[in-house]
Amino acid sequence: YTQAKALVYSKFGEPADVLHLHTHSISPSLPDGAVVVRALAAPVNPSDVNTVQGTYGVKPDFSKQQLELGTSEPAAVPGNEGCFEVVSVGPSVKTLHRGDWVIPASTGFGTFRTHALVQHADKALLRVGGDKGGHEGLTAAQVATVSVNPCSAYRMLRDYVDLIQQSVATFARGDGGDGGAWFLQNGANSGVGRAAIQLGKLWGLRSINVVRERSTPEATAALKAELTDLGATVVVTEAEFLDRSFAARLKDEWTRGGRDPVMLGLNCVGGKSASAVVRSLNAKGTMVTYGGMSRQSFPFPTGPQIFKRLRFEGFWLSEWSKENPEEKRKTIDAILELMRDGKFRLAPVEEVRWDWDTEEKVLKDAVQGTLEGFRGGKGLFVF
Ligand code: NDP
Repeated sequence: YTQAKALVYSKFGEPADVLHLHTHSISPSLPDGAVVVRALAAPVNPSDVNTVQGTYGVKPDFSKQQLELGTSEPAAVPGNEGCFEVVSVGPSVKTLHRGDWVIPASTGFGTFRTHALVQHADKALLRVGGDKGGHEGLTAAQVATVSVNPCSAYRMLRDYVDLIQQSVATFARGDGGDGGAWFLQNGANSGVGRAAIQLGKLWGLRSINVVRERSTPEATAALKAELTDLGATVVVTEAEFLDRSFAARLKDEWTRGGRDPVMLGLNCVGGKSASAVVRSLNAKGTMVTYGGMSRQSFPFPTGPQIFKRLRFEGFWLSEWSKENPEEKRKTIDAILELMRDGKFRLAPVEEVRWDWDTEEKVLKDAVQGTLEGFRGGKGLFVF
């Protein structure tokens, strides 16, 4: 029998209140099509906390995992992404072998656990490296964080506005335009934001990035420098972004009087910051909302909607992945390739070691801390 531990919850609430560390064992006689995996790393994303709080767009099915976990009441394991190693393979499994690194194919897997018995493994797990090779050249942290943030940034930069075509057209016009198309984003130091900066840079795009001011000017300058080093073209603080002078700076300093228009805005934050994204878009621009970190809504202003003919879109990776499983796999493979080549840097993480003896409180605190602002990086369970 494999001894396993998992964070579980049976009702919604604050992670510190409702999560418990549960111990169970996994039988060595595996059902048809099943594998047992061992966790290597799993990040704690904001949506994991929202799911435990019961405020996320999808609710876990508490009854589904009870049998496998052997909990006294229906329970679910939080966590949507992670890197696992296959440790044993049941009958009729076709694509997976012992030692393979895998990631969950869809959300709701429950990654905050040391081991899992995975049914229908060929479908439920993506083998890292596909048919070509394995995980050589990759770290568990890279694999564990590839499928949500970088994947979201990748799709949002590609699927709403054809920025690459816009860049080509700018060059072709021959009117002195010498840079790629612009996009603008708030929450630029988030995992998604950092991925968008890097992918944008790799694709020849230019980015205007909004971050919240740090506690000292030096710390703000350091954060700006960090993002510039990642490939950001411009980094401004939220105060600069919300200031009246921003419109003139956007026009005169960066976009040649508006001849290099900003056609895509990515909104991670909501509230006033989102309204400023709307104001900064050029006519026929698109704003894609994917997060609401400030927990504030924003108005869809009538004037700009009509007179600037703006488009407002919502992006949700989970649904996109369900609708486009093949594209999802290709996107992940493409990003892993960039990571392997040293062209894509990991967002900062705060590693939380999860050993057999790690106390429940340490694990719960790591989840609870995720929605606090001004952090050095997101929590990453390392096993
Ligand atoms: P990270 O944990 O990496 O970063 C959190 C970000 O939120 C930081 O930039 C932080 O800025 C900012 N932030 C925190 N609190 C506030 C606040 N009160 N007001 C403004 N900004 C704040 O986040 P992720 O990249 O993992 O996720 C970012 C957002 O994107 C989340 O809302 C997440 O749910 C969403 N998301 C949505 C997806 C989708 O499919 N729709 C997919 C992936 C992510 P600071 O450093 O200044 O605190």
